[in-house]
Amino acid sequence: MARRQYQICKCCVMDTTDEYISFDENGVCSRCNEYRQRILPEWNYGKGHEKELESLLAEIKRKGSGKKYDCILGLSGGLDSSYMLHLAVKEWGLRPFVFHINAGWNLPVAEENIRRITDKLGVKLHVENMNWDEMREMQLAWFRTGLENLDSPQDHAFIALIDRYSRELGVKYILNGYNISTEIVADPESWGKDGGPTGDGTFMKDVIKKYCRIPIKDYTFTNGFKHKFWIPYILGVKTLKPLNLVPVTRHQMVEVLKEEYGYIPYGQKHFEDLLTKFLEGYWMPTRFGHDIRRAQLSSLVVTGQMEREEALKILERPPLSEEESKKLFTEVAKRLEITEEELMSFHDMPKCTEKFKSQEKLYNLGIRLYEILGIEKRIRK
Ligand SMILES: [Zn+2]
Repeated sequence: MARRQYQICKCCVMDTTDEYISFDENGVCSRCNEYRQRILPEWNYGKGHEKELESLLAEIKRKGSGKKYDCILGLSGGLDSSYMLHLAVKEWGLRPFVFHINAGWNLPVAEENIRRITDKLGVKLHVENMNWDEMREMQLAWFRTGLENLDSPQDHAFIALIDRYSRELGVKYILNGYNISTEIVADPESWGKDGGPTGDGTFMKDVIKKYCRIPIKDYTFTNGFKHKFWIPYILGVKTLKPLNLVPVTRHQMVEVLKEEYGYIPYGQKHFEDLLTKFLEGYWMPTRFGHDIRRAQLSSLVVTGQMEREEALKILERPPLSEEESKKLFTEVAKRLEITEEELMSFHDMPKCTEKFKSQEKLYNLGIRLYEILGIEKRIRK
């Protein structure tokens, strides 16, 4: 395939590093157009949804009455889930089962934020400590494949555990911190396209079978059928994104959390996790030429929270300084118990061309079906 000519959107900062992006005759990208036509009119910056929110909260409380919890919330220590918890407990009076998955990569800032917020709110935190020997081995396996979606062992565990908790607790509502305001421009699908979707247990098991050197026994799996169909439509568990029903901006979220809880900001999104910080700040840009800040900053630009010029200026500098990258490189190698040379050999190996078993066809069919039914609202691609 001929390499396409470089192009960057005239409105946001997405560019042709996203292989599936397209541009209209005015040089405006498909994401921006979709946002203006499909998302903005309905979302309206989170304004005008008071009635919807009110009836949703009443429903959650009614269905949860007499039970210990009325909803489930996963807390990473990052901005969105922290703010979600603040609203849920302090503003809305909900009683969430709050859990945190410790996959072994937390940075101190994540743990400190979690502690400050749950302490002040008086919320009990359930910590799921993953089996580190397994997590380490799975992480190494993903590095051995040469794939880009190296976050899969952590991400899959997260959604698999939410599925499990909802079944075990019999709670019908999951609060998800996803929000249009800071995330409407999703990370390009083309950046992880050789791996399966996050909930694809078939893909996970195939990588484990081919690349793990110890048996994986404690890890919790889910799959597309269970996660996208059985749990939501048969068990009736709803994943809610209530941050879209209130006006929120990134700045306002940070300020409220700082003031109420002494929350500590940690810069770039996802930089509360050592592995993700390393992958998004160093590995993806240098090995794949993918700068995840493009999507993050574009979300702020299209929603009017940042000038495009400012975003372009930020992108001129790498996400991490050379010194910070080196430090992270050493830390990650140490944590994985391999030499820095070995870690570097994964960085410099050829891109993965291997095909893994996957539920991709089932997913695509499901997405198309949900789009027809009007259930799938997120801007994809
Ligand atoms: Zn655009």
